[in-house]
Amino acid sequence: MTEIKLHNTLKRTKEVFQPIDPENVRMYVCGPTVYDRAHIGNARPVVVFDVLYRLLREVYGTDHVTYVRNFTDVDDKINARAAESGREIGEITAETTQWYLDDMGALGAIEPNHMPRATQYITQMITMIEKLIADGFAYAHEGHVLFRVRKYEDYGKLSGRSVDDMIAGARVEVASYKEDPMDFVLWKPSDEATPGWDSPWGRGRPGWHIECSAMSYELLGAEFDIHGGGNDLMFPHHENEIAQSCCANGGKTMANYWLHNEMLQVEGKKMSKSLGNFFTVRDLLDQGFAGEVIRFVFLSTHYGKPMDWTAKKAAESEATLRKWRTLTAGIEPAASVPAEVLSCVADDLNTAGAIAALHGFASAGDAAALLAGARVLGLLTDELGNWAQSADLSRYETLLADTRTDAMATKDFSEVDRIKAALVEAGVEVRMGKAGVELLPAAGFDETKLAGLLDE
Ligand SMILES: [Zn+2]
Repeated sequence: MTEIKLHNTLKRTKEVFQPIDPENVRMYVCGPTVYDRAHIGNARPVVVFDVLYRLLREVYGTDHVTYVRNFTDVDDKINARAAESGREIGEITAETTQWYLDDMGALGAIEPNHMPRATQYITQMITMIEKLIADGFAYAHEGHVLFRVRKYEDYGKLSGRSVDDMIAGARVEVASYKEDPMDFVLWKPSDEATPGWDSPWGRGRPGWHIECSAMSYELLGAEFDIHGGGNDLMFPHHENEIAQSCCANGGKTMANYWLHNEMLQVEGKKMSKSLGNFFTVRDLLDQGFAGEVIRFVFLSTHYGKPMDWTAKKAAESEATLRKWRTLTAGIEPAASVPAEVLSCVADDLNTAGAIAALHGFASAGDAAALLAGARVLGLLTDELGNWAQSADLSRYETLLADTRTDAMATKDFSEVDRIKAALVEAGVEVRMGKAGVELLPAAGFDETKLAGLLDE
């Protein structure tokens, strides 16, 4: 069996992955709060953990991996969006959830086995909170329930900081209902205008962190294999998840392997609305970037490094994928994922190394290996292929070949040169040889522009 190594944030080192039960490898990834379109930074963990999911399925078998990713559909950002837009909360969360599924599907992400919504697990959250109170890890005060951080001695272990350091660095809220400023909210009261559920502490709603503890316990058990998310979630969200889960369920670390992806930048700068470099996934798709191209750009950088989205990388990725799609058209994939590719992906998701191996197969003309290797990265799949097929250049190939035949007779090659120039200008790679004419759409290929140039 292929040995998988993963960088475990909890241990700050790369470790050999050993599942609790190889018959059922279990992974939980924190999902979106559904009130708006996902931006491209939100999509990075989706693509990263999709590759891990594909790898686990490749190694342990498709039916032996359980992947859970939640939807946070109760949150004050959602309430604010409903208030400002005058729309129903349920309408906003249903619409945004579908947008998310559509946009991540366009990036070739396989849907997880379970996609629980927080509002479906309120009862389980209340049960967990009651247990934490009964065991002295939480307390109710003024309609709030808070987790007593200093009662859990391993708090801070994931991010490697002491509670006192964290207080110094974090914007902790001092409030009358808290025993200690560091304590975090498990439950809070709701007024008439805010969504709320009946509870032993009055009508209210959960704090953000408790949902992941309750849903992972329900769907994966007290201890499972992998917990993933962006590194912006490490503190406080993941620290709080571990504290809640371990104190309520008696486990040691909630999950044995904690994986965090680094953040995404655009053209070397942090993405922000004020800099005008803020894109949603839908913005890029609408601008004509294929989902597969976005996915390729993401995977060209290791998940543990900051990822820089640039127009240049997107154009290069598009040209590569067009070439690979042409090379693999009508080809059956090799029976298994080539070892050169699998060993890279199994080495802490070295997707850049895997892509380099794929380039090697493409250069050698080994389309069957290229196709089989690309699938473990979720590339060159049938579902993602429509964009590349839209460029059918066969009629231009015929035009150029016929014009060349005529020119051979008349010795006037001016028309051949004109067509060639138009093709190159429109982003087509022209290959002419004894065997005939071959046209390959390259980065930025524009068919409308080509038609216009040839009509002149
Ligand atoms: Zn979470």
